[in-house]
Amino acid sequence: MNAKLILDNELKDSQSTEIIKVYSPWDGAEIGSLAAANESEAKYAVESAAQAFKTWRYSNLSDRIAILSKAHTLLSQRIPELAQLLKSEIAKNYADAKSEIERSLEYLELTIDAARFLKGKSFNADMFPKYERGRKQAVYKREGLGVVLAISPFNYPINLSITKIAPALIMGNTVVFKPATVGALTAFEFYKAFIEAGLPKGVLNFVTGSSSKIGDVLLTHPQISLIAFTGSTRVGDHIKKVSNGVPLLLELGGKDNAIVTANADLDRAASEIVSGAFSYNGQRCTAQKLVLVYESIAAELINKIQSKMQELQMTPMIDAGAANYVQELVQDAKDKGAQIIIEGTREGNLLKPSLISNITPQMRLFKEEQFGPVLPIVLVSSEQQAIEYANMSDFGLQASVYTKDLEEAYRIADQLEVGTVQINGRGDRGPDNYPFGGIKGSGMAMQGLEESLELMSRGKLTVLNLYNQKH
Ligand code: NAP
Repeated sequence: MNAKLILDNELKDSQSTEIIKVYSPWDGAEIGSLAAANESEAKYAVESAAQAFKTWRYSNLSDRIAILSKAHTLLSQRIPELAQLLKSEIAKNYADAKSEIERSLEYLELTIDAARFLKGKSFNADMFPKYERGRKQAVYKREGLGVVLAISPFNYPINLSITKIAPALIMGNTVVFKPATVGALTAFEFYKAFIEAGLPKGVLNFVTGSSSKIGDVLLTHPQISLIAFTGSTRVGDHIKKVSNGVPLLLELGGKDNAIVTANADLDRAASEIVSGAFSYNGQRCTAQKLVLVYESIAAELINKIQSKMQELQMTPMIDAGAANYVQELVQDAKDKGAQIIIEGTREGNLLKPSLISNITPQMRLFKEEQFGPVLPIVLVSSEQQAIEYANMSDFGLQASVYTKDLEEAYRIADQLEVGTVQINGRGDRGPDNYPFGGIKGSGMAMQGLEESLELMSRGKLTVLNLYNQKH
């Protein structure tokens, strides 16, 4: 399968004829190629979107809805094929790949519905003394910002692009989309359907290529009105530096803590923690990446986690670098005296899951985002210490609190410096209508359904100054 650039609604190879070969993480087999845009093609993509904005911004909402609904219909007929491609490209099991496509289409549908019910506001000034009734009437409505640059990561190429692109388009913005190199084949197939559904020329441009060549061209282009990025904190920090004050929606890394108190249902906690930590090999921003457990129940929880880990089926890591990094962190913990309960073996890029206890703040696993199948456990002596350790994190995406005591759950949740606290459940982005976002190194801005429609638009006030309103 060969993905092209989409510029002005045309599927194009790069003028440079450069391509990026795509290899499957399952077995290293070549499965396709991507066009590698050069700098002038990246620039052109933004200019084409800026040109298209001039008319798309004044299009009828009902027309935008009709096109996005048509794309939804076309894609709904292709779910198994898209899921199969996603599976082969990012080594997600078929059920998870299918669920990603399905939830993305559900989000698209919900966004269309939410946009139908968007309301403006009107204002009267006569609550203020000296302003006569009817003298100043104001209409307040929302309108598109301009060109939205959407950049997504490898782990959810469809879900983490549709949650940017659907609200952007429906609010009258045009889009330049740069997917992660890994996952771009499926993204190309998915977004091609939007062109087939009738998006006008230039409204959605699709660009792949080397980030070191075209990244800054896109990020610093003066015609970009908003950058919506999901990816690592490292790249997010780079975007903050170079983006010239353009508004940013950043969804970055996470180090989601699971606090397990003495009042927890330990069976429930163990099964949520295991599924939270190891699904898709822990390559999820909201994976449970550190357990803070009260000493009195630690042994029992660890036993339960250990036995649930026997059932796990892993898929290969996304690449050798990711697997090497996880092993480096495990080695560091070993060197510093952590207790290795299960050390996962490695075959190629397939890492079996590891469970490590007695992690201390001096170990890299305490602070760094492992993004892989290793679960570090920290023993804490009190609620205060659990909260203190959790808040020492440079990240602030989600945290989980496991306890049957609602008073305790709320008290702890209230003190955690994160965007979302899950009570008795694993970290999760979904359901996608929920507000979602991180603080500190995990990003900025809460996205969601209505939230994203707001973020992808600006308020515009028109004041009617009326002089003859005497009755
Ligand atoms: P990444 O390396 O930061 O890449 C993310 C995207 O940025 C990719 O499209 C990448 O393109 C692009 N990119 C890299 N360097 C760039 C540059 N200089 N200029 C412009 N674009 C650039 O992240 P990843 O490895 O794909 O994803 C894993 C990370 O994403 C983890 O840290 C995870 O926690 C985070 N994440 C966060 C959330 C959330 O909602 N908070 C959700 C999912 C993932 P190339 O691939 O072509 O380099």
